[in-house]
Amino acid sequence: MTITPIIGIEAHIELKTKTKMFCGCDASHFHADPNTHTCPVCLGLPGALPVPNKTACEWCIKLGLALGCRVNHSSFFERKNYFYPDLPKGYQISQYLRPFTVDGILDLDGHKIRINRVHLEEDTGKSVHLGGDTLLDFNRSGVPLVEIVSEPDINSPEEAKKYLLKVQQVVRYLGISDADIEKGSMRCEPTINIKIEDGDQTFYTPLVEIKNVASLTGVMTAIQFEIDRQIAQFQEDKIVKNSTNKTTRGWDAEKQQTFLQREKEGSADYRYFPEPDIPPIEFTANDVEAVKSTLPEMPDQKIKRYINDFGLSDYDSNLICESIDSSEAFEYGISVFSTEKENIKKFANLYINGLKEHLNKENKEIEKEKINPEQVFKVIKMASGNVVSSSVAKNLIVQSYEFGVDVENYAKENNLIQVSDTIVIEEMAKKVITDNPKAVADYRKKPLSVGFLVGQLMKASKGSANPTLAKEILEKLLSQ
Ligand code: ZN
Ligand code: MN
Repeated sequence: MTITPIIGIEAHIELKTKTKMFCGCDASHFHADPNTHTCPVCLGLPGALPVPNKTACEWCIKLGLALGCRVNHSSFFERKNYFYPDLPKGYQISQYLRPFTVDGILDLDGHKIRINRVHLEEDTGKSVHLGGDTLLDFNRSGVPLVEIVSEPDINSPEEAKKYLLKVQQVVRYLGISDADIEKGSMRCEPTINIKIEDGDQTFYTPLVEIKNVASLTGVMTAIQFEIDRQIAQFQEDKIVKNSTNKTTRGWDAEKQQTFLQREKEGSADYRYFPEPDIPPIEFTANDVEAVKSTLPEMPDQKIKRYINDFGLSDYDSNLICESIDSSEAFEYGISVFSTEKENIKKFANLYINGLKEHLNKENKEIEKEKINPEQVFKVIKMASGNVVSSSVAKNLIVQSYEFGVDVENYAKENNLIQVSDTIVIEEMAKKVITDNPKAVADYRKKPLSVGFLVGQLMKASKGSANPTLAKEILEKLLSQ
């Protein structure tokens, strides 16, 4: 019996335009006083007329293009009808038959996930549950929302996570949304069923859509729960009930399980029809070209260029290109030696293992302006010439970044210049041997453990001793 999970993902991204999708209200709503960013349009008052936000339309197309989609030259908005207290008009303005963009591809390390569509719609208000009451806040009502629908090409919770991280990366490269899952500016609804092949028979379990998942780990746990539940259900029933419509299940983060919300829901239930208050929207080939020309270099292209032009590894290139800010800071850092592959590799190492590691510890984002390319070049020359050790070089990069120090002066003033003087190192080695009798005894039994003593010597010299010499001298003294 072969079991294959079939997973598709609907992701919603809130655009960070200044104003809302169909009115002039301020679109920012995070921590704003309730119902202060509203007007007759986004409150759904009778007679109010929607006017589409041009920037939001362009950004949706931009994202579609970045995900390899084709742009429909003529599109229109439709009304998606349903009742919910946070939806004051009784319908959401969305796209159905003619989304702005369709048929894209997202490449996950060679596994191509097809994108069905990237369309534009509006967000709903928020229900705030307080004690036994439910309050309504319409600040979010009408905020532009892009929906990205993948085909069911994802096969595991890990792959779902990878997919979402990549969508998030692309969106952030474009600068059109914070795409923050925890803050709700990126929301995702996975759709899952299981393909079961038993001999020459193939079964499909009924399709389930999971709602209310509010974190990346939540998405993975919810998908895994649903996979296990559907397999168990199939083993119990031994048959698959014929069902064409999907069932909606909510995710209970506390109980770590999904629960039934609605059964049998199809697009017919929404009674989609063209929005009569907004004329069709046309994009000429020139319009599309104009949007295309504003696309930055995307992560996949950038990583390829780093590998080919800079000779960096796939792993390092991925780390550096994690965000557009990170890659821009890196490229600024190498600007005075941008053709010297060997030096670029050396900086990549200092950047990842020195600067980025330091920033991760401090929980800070990289700031390009704080990088000084001349100082970077000095550090690389000092490290290449064995003037400083590689660990000191990492520290110098951080000192230059955080405090704008001159790395040469700093290294001298703090006695960080690499000591290659055998007599000086021998003195330090003797002291380390006297101070660490236990480690010396260990070494007699296990010569590989010399690393500890080298570490002690490096520590005593504040990283300035030449580590190769330190090891040689320690071994020489210990063998006497
Ligand atoms: Zn409004
Ligand atoms: Mn939607």
